Amino acid sequence: MSRVLGRVARGAPPVHALMSIGGRWREATSGARMDCIDPTTEELLGTVPAAGAADADLAVRTAQEASGPWRALGWTKRAALLRDLAAAVAEVADRLAVLDTLDSGNPIAGMRGDIDSTVRELHYYAGLAGQTHGESTPTGAETVSFTRREPYGVVVRIVPFNHPFKFACGKAAAALAAGNAVIVKPGEQTSLSAIALAEIAEAVLPPGVLTVLTGTGTELGEALVGHPGVQRVAFTGSVPTGRRILTTAARNLAHVTLELGGKNPLIVCPDVDPRTAARDAVASMNIARSNGQSCGSTSRLYVHERIRAEFTEALLERVRALRVGDPCDEANDVGPVAFAEHHARVLDHIERAKASGATVAVGGSRPPGPERGYFVEPTVFTDVTDDMPIAREEVFGPVMAVMGFTDLDDAVRRANDTDYGLTANVYTRDLRVAHRLAGELQAGYVYVNGTGRRPPGSPFGGWKHSGLGKENSHQELLSYTREKTITITLPAADPDWS
Ligand code: NAD
Repeated sequence: MSRVLGRVARGAPPVHALMSIGGRWREATSGARMDCIDPTTEELLGTVPAAGAADADLAVRTAQEASGPWRALGWTKRAALLRDLAAAVAEVADRLAVLDTLDSGNPIAGMRGDIDSTVRELHYYAGLAGQTHGESTPTGAETVSFTRREPYGVVVRIVPFNHPFKFACGKAAAALAAGNAVIVKPGEQTSLSAIALAEIAEAVLPPGVLTVLTGTGTELGEALVGHPGVQRVAFTGSVPTGRRILTTAARNLAHVTLELGGKNPLIVCPDVDPRTAARDAVASMNIARSNGQSCGSTSRLYVHERIRAEFTEALLERVRALRVGDPCDEANDVGPVAFAEHHARVLDHIERAKASGATVAVGGSRPPGPERGYFVEPTVFTDVTDDMPIAREEVFGPVMAVMGFTDLDDAVRRANDTDYGLTANVYTRDLRVAHRLAGELQAGYVYVNGTGRRPPGSPFGGWKHSGLGKENSHQELLSYTREKTITITLPAADPDWS
């Protein structure tokens, strides 16, 4: 049983977690540590090492050593070990979900869903592990020419705070399947379940193949991304950090993929049932999954004027019905946002929206209930114009803006008038309109009549400032390999026998 998983609980003494490099559990070289705060109670759940450049260097060298034998193991054995890891995760799924709920504030039902989908991701990439083959090129009788795909060796995987275990574990799966050793750096605000992952993986994977280092972005993240032994970096997080990572990785010309933020539009046409669209608009904010802290949240709602009043009424009814409170309690739909600084940031977005003239239709502040905890009322703004910050900036919290439209082309233009391009969403029963808009909307993923589902294998990744590259697909697996071309000139024929 994982030490962190067994010990973290409300009211229990704070856990003193360590990190493992190559099978040795240790403090950061500097001895520095970071607090893990329960955002519901604001109490200390535990502390984790605050690793820095020396730890990054040791972890990269250890991963380099581990990567050769891991690659040499062959894909069938790697796939089998990934399935074993999936089984080990599934065995403690309930405890992992509770740990993530305590550490992140995300509702328990959402975190159960996260662990289930992580297990599915591990199986998905275990199943794909053999699909890294190359191609052959037709040549004359004198040569044989073909390509093959080889792992990079060490992959650095930096992830944000909002889906702690799902991102720490699920986002390592493709790189491991492709034959790389992986170093995961979780969000510094929600690191505990990543350490639990290292504890679980210790019993399954060879030492050094999957390393979890905890620490800040500016010290540990920078050191990992800029390390000369790292040729592949995959990042999920905000646009400014994505830019910074590209710059740092440029020092070693490391290959980078980025999954970044979104301000995702949802266009509701007048031919759909406004109540169904309103129900889905609330669901696709991911409030009940991660308190609206989701890159895919549909925070810009463009609703045709013919149904806007009815849609808004249904939306407000649903948002008012959401129960805010302790996320460990199944009866609650909404917990706190993950940490104090983010709480202040979300409340500031709300205040700026009010100051710019938007109307609070529901919510709009801290809820009156719990005195402690980083709670924000689920909030809907109306009377929003396109130039307001609330229509343009990613809030990353339970906050939506409703706007109207009469002309569909104008709605598409407004939906596209943003630097973001993660997802776009359309509700219509008219297939011709759906097909046209799917083509015109500038986003890496377009949903028609149903938002947020990501069937495994459907490539996910943003356009414009929302990212570089695709995940959740065969493309992601291939992105952890580099292509090599081999041309063999055949020896001259032996006249004695051929
Ligand atoms: P963030 O960019 O602040 O941090 C993300 C990670 O990067 C953390 O682990 C952090 O420690 C690390 N980091 C920070 N500075 C770094 C640096 N200079 N070098 C290396 N690493 C560094 O993001 P956040 O606030 O944790 O997460 C919220 C953002 O993530 C939102 O914008 C959200 O939309 C985005 N996100 C995107 C996706 C997606 O799939 N597109 C998924 C989830 C979240």
